[in-house]
This record gives sequence, C-alpha cells and structure tokens, in this order.
Amino acid sequence: MASVWEETDEWGPEKVLQVYDPDTGMKGVLVIDNTSTGPGKGGIRFAEGATPLEIFKLSRTMTWKCAAAGLPFGGAKGGIIADPNKVDRVAWVKSFAKMIKPYCPGQYIAATDIGTTELDMAIFAHEIGDMRACTGKPSELGGIPHELGTTGYGVTTALETALEVLLELNAIRIIRDNIKVSIQGFGNVGSFTAKFLDSSGIKVVAISDISGLVYNKDGLNIPRLMIDMKGKSMLSGLDGYTILNKNQIFEIDSDIFIPAAMGNVIVDDTVTKIIDHGVKIVVEAANLPTTKKADEYLNSNGVWVIPDFLANAGGVIGSFVEYQGRTEKEAFDLIRYKISKNIKNILTQAIMNGENPRVLALELSKQLVYRAMLLRKGAISVAREAYSRKDAISV
Ligand code: NAD
Repeated sequence: MASVWEETDEWGPEKVLQVYDPDTGMKGVLVIDNTSTGPGKGGIRFAEGATPLEIFKLSRTMTWKCAAAGLPFGGAKGGIIADPNKVDRVAWVKSFAKMIKPYCPGQYIAATDIGTTELDMAIFAHEIGDMRACTGKPSELGGIPHELGTTGYGVTTALETALEVLLELNAIRIIRDNIKVSIQGFGNVGSFTAKFLDSSGIKVVAISDISGLVYNKDGLNIPRLMIDMKGKSMLSGLDGYTILNKNQIFEIDSDIFIPAAMGNVIVDDTVTKIIDHGVKIVVEAANLPTTKKADEYLNSNGVWVIPDFLANAGGVIGSFVEYQGRTEKEAFDLIRYKISKNIKNILTQAIMNGENPRVLALELSKQLVYRAMLLRKGAISVAREAYSRKDAISV
C-alpha cells in the first residue's frame, strides 16, 4: 500500500503523527504539511478507514487553499479513525486533543470536517485549554460554526462568479435563466449549497446522499425539502418522495455538477457519464473529488472545473475571521470578496491563455508558499530575487 513517505516533496509534510490511546482505543493521525505561511489549518475527519496517506493529501489541499485565499495559515489535517457513531465520541475527541496538545495552536489549528461538529470543537478547545486551538466552535464560545453554512455560501459564490465570467467571455454556451444543478452529498456543504443556490434563483434538480437520490427535472423545492428533512439524517427517511439510487447522480441531465460528499468520485466511468449528460461546469465542493486523469479529460472536453481549494475555501475563510474574533457578517462578506476575486482572476487567465484553471491556480499557490518558505529561511536576498522574477505574483 502506498505510504506517506512516497509522497514527501519540497513542500512537506513537516510532521506525520500517529497516535493511539490504550485507555479508549482511540487511533488518530495529525499531518502538518507546511507551516511557512502560518500554523497548519485543517479540519478533523472522524471516519472509518481514514488513512495517514488520505489525511496527508487533505493537508496538502489545505496548504494550497490557505495560500490561494491569502490567509496567514499553512496546511494540516487531523483524522480520528472510526465511525463516530460506533465509539464513545466525546472520549475519543478528548483523547485525540490530549495527544496532539503540544502542537495546538502553535503549529495546528483544528476545525470540523466529515464526522465532526461544533460540539466536537467545543470539547477539543476545552481539552487543549485554549480557545484558539480550533475554529468552527459554537457561537457561545465566540465561534463561527461551520453549521452556519460558510462553505456552502462560498461554493455558491464560486458557482455564480464562474458563470458570470464564462458567459461574459463567451467561454460557455448556457442559458443563464434555465440552469440546472445536481449535487452529490446533502450534509453540511451540500445542504447549504442547495439552500444558497435556491435563494439566488438557481434551480437544483437532483440531490443525492449515502442513502439515495431525489430528483425533479423542473427543480426541487429546496425550502420544502429542508423542512421535510428536519429530524432525519438521510434522504431515504423522507416521506412522500421517490428515492432513486444514489449512483444515478452521474446520469442526471444538468449544466453544473457539484460533488459535495467524498473524494475520488469523478473517475474513469463517472466522468464520461456526467459529460454525456450535459455537464459544462464542475464546482468541487468536496475535497479531492476528481482524479488527475478525470480532471484532464474534463478539461480536454471543454468542461470547466472550479478546483476544490478555490471553491470550498468558505469554511477556512470563515475560520480566519473567527480566529480574529470578528463577526459572522464579516465572515460572509470576506468569503464573497475573496472567492469571487480569486475565481475571476483564475478563470479569466485560464480562458485568455487556454489553460486548465486547476493547473493555473496551483501554480499561483505554489509561488506564494515558495516565497514564504524562502522568507522563513531568512533568505531575504533570494526572496528579493523571487519577487523580481517575471513569473512571481505581483505584491
Ligand atoms: P457531511 O458528513 O456533513 O456530509 C457528507 C454527505 O455526503 C452526507 O450527505 C452523506 O450522506 C453523503 N455521502 C457520503 N457518501 C456518499 C456517497 N457514496 N454518495 C452520495 N453521497 C454520499 O460532510 P461535509 O462537511 O458536508 O463535507 C462534504 C465534503 O466537503 C468533504 O469532502 C469535506 O472534506 C468537504 N469540505 C467540507 C467543509 C466543511 O466546512 N464542512 C469545508 C471544505 C470542504
């Protein structure tokens, strides 16, 4: 099996920590990828089957995400390896916090991810004994919980901005008023994305989750669906809806596809399905949903992919605002400002130069991190040289 060691490169990871608590049975991983731009930031994934390699890949995404958003954070990720519903989750979160305490918040600042909520963040911060140890805390603790929908709001902003730029520069054929969106995943990110899209008058025709799929070719009634979902954890628990197979999400006629569940879902067979069903834009709300090969295939078939580290940065931008002790309103304003500016910049350049937006965005993030690494080494003269290089980003 591939290991983290095979993935080490000039960027990191700086630390890979595997922890085990014999008292509770808790097994966890902390990967701090790169801290040249600040303490490593990244959520704690609480999931069965999470591996150090997966946590490392997610931490690397955080490195590029924080750099792209211009935040004073590096990249990191935590993992607690179990189904949170099958263990004593409070004891496990406490135990994980106790084990990684020496690194928080100096080198690692946690947040929520799949399987963790604002309550876990409250437990984590109290166990560390420092409210700065994580973001996404409940508002009673001065937090801006991800449960307010910051990531979904950012995904919606990314989608709206992409549409605006692609239409303005004639890079896409689509009728703005009749756009159809399908979303895979109806958890924190998927549900808020659906809600914010609906508020913007954009039609969501299909939503899937682990249990099934709901569909209406004329657009789902999202406010109604939200009410009907109250107290239910899965779409299959809904009364009065026809629940289809979750894998049909790749075979829905739509203009925009939003993966908002797991990684590695746009792969060899699904990529052809979504293209055949008319998808022209993919907005990556999930982390790492598209394989490299599928991304290249989408690009060469004229499908615009808005990469995860730009599209789903709403949560970490909100985290930064929380870290500064500022308000929810300021978080939403900053998310809109930063994400729309970034997407406009990258997509305009990609269209003008015929480049893949992901490749372009990655290159810009790398330049920023590279400069920060030089500055950390104290190599000011080298940094000056980098500043003056033609390909360096203007400051
Ligand atoms: P979540 O646990 O709240 O929801 C996950 C959703 O995916 C659930 O609806 C689940 O049923 C569904 N799902 C799982 N397996 C599926 C399958 N095989 N087919 C269809 N649906 C499936 O998680 P979340 O916080 O919404 O995160 C979703 C994705 O977004 C993850 O990749 C996460 O890393 C990424 N992300 C989350 C945030 C955040 O603020 N929560 C921020 C950035 C990125």
